[in-house]
Amino acid sequence: MRQSQLFTKARKEAPSDEVAKNAQLLIRAGFIYKEMAGVYSFLPLGLRVLNKVEDIIRREMNEAGGIEMRTAVLQSKDVWEKTNRWDDEVVDNWFKTKLKNGGEVGLSFTNEEAYSNILKQYISSYKDLPIYPYDFKSIFRNESRSKSGIMRGREFYWKALYSFSQDEAEHEVFYEKMKTAYRNIFDAVGIGHVTHLTFASGGTFSKFSHEFQTVTDAGEDSIYIDEKSGIAINKEVYNDEVIADLGLNKESLVEKTAVEVGNVFSLGTKFSAPFDLKYKDKNGEEKLVVMGSYGIGLGRLIGTVVEVLSDDKGIVWPKSIAPFAVHLVELAGADDADIHAEAEKLYGELTRKGIEVLWDDRDLRAGEKFAESDLMGIPLRAVISKKMIEEGKVEIKIRATGEVRIVDRADIPSIVDKIN
Ligand code: ATP
Ligand code: MG
Repeated sequence: MRQSQLFTKARKEAPSDEVAKNAQLLIRAGFIYKEMAGVYSFLPLGLRVLNKVEDIIRREMNEAGGIEMRTAVLQSKDVWEKTNRWDDEVVDNWFKTKLKNGGEVGLSFTNEEAYSNILKQYISSYKDLPIYPYDFKSIFRNESRSKSGIMRGREFYWKALYSFSQDEAEHEVFYEKMKTAYRNIFDAVGIGHVTHLTFASGGTFSKFSHEFQTVTDAGEDSIYIDEKSGIAINKEVYNDEVIADLGLNKESLVEKTAVEVGNVFSLGTKFSAPFDLKYKDKNGEEKLVVMGSYGIGLGRLIGTVVEVLSDDKGIVWPKSIAPFAVHLVELAGADDADIHAEAEKLYGELTRKGIEVLWDDRDLRAGEKFAESDLMGIPLRAVISKKMIEEGKVEIKIRATGEVRIVDRADIPSIVDKIN
């Protein structure tokens, strides 16, 4: 893509009411636009990142047996009354609205009821199980705090998968598979090294649920990490009994601030019972379906990557989710047609090899272009200037390490290949 076609431009300042580093950087670099507190639009650059994160998650979900669908955002009162979760006294973060011809609807704040209600139509025998439907969807929560940028939105985009199994044993197998899938996802987006499997409260059906907590000061949770195993305990369940139960030692646990980037939860029959979601087993006996839920907030995940990996110059994307792999910066004035032509040639060579390139073809000062490039965080910068043309070379800079090298243009694809 030519940068002259991109309408977004780097800004020196984020809106004065934006206090979260992730949103400040993403706004300044032109990835997101702040509509209001807790609500952000994704601009072209931001959408490219979001789509890449979505693809990584989708690949892992499909690999584990997931099947993608999309539940409606507008939800009817009767469905949620079945579980007593329509009541604002019970759920305090609903956004609700009225229909013109009477009646109320709610905007999905989660998906359990929607899935149980739909799947009741399709599950009747043990032959129908297990199944693992999931969706990517915009979720609406009237959160009281929203000072964490895209890490806590009032509107946010998530992946939620629900497992429907015959019994606890079948459920457990999939639950473990999801933990592995989540680990793969957090590794793939570059935060695996600071993300901890964390024991958290499990609700009525299991002793614990599991959260994936990423250590960052921008988080809102406190966790206790066992530095040897990497396993952590959420402060909400932290006590001597739990520590002993997990075979951990109080002395080796370190308290850290962290953000929950994802969670896996055993739901038992909590959401199958109210919907009478049953199947006939091999002996013709009717049994309630055993469920689990598995969520990841994509905005929260992107915000966390920005918080964890950025430096004083701006964002540092891992290549896996960077909007482009290469930022090709030409340093050409209005009458440097040869430099522009040379940049265009390199742009063509790289894109033909399947490398995604953002080509800064604008007539701006070098300093301005470099500062903007650092802020944007594209993994490799390649500079075409008069001096480089004379030498028949290209100057490259690796964003993550700051390393600068003069290389042959033909070497760029293999260098890109090696970047993480
Ligand atoms: P938290 O305790 O941080 O509010 P939660 O327990 O409410 O999270 P879930 O309802 O389990 O979260 O949602 C599943 C996932 O969705 C979370 O692990 C998180 O990644 C993401 N998520 C939850 N709330 C938000 C939000 N307001 N903005 C962005 N992502 C969110
Ligand atoms: Mg919440």
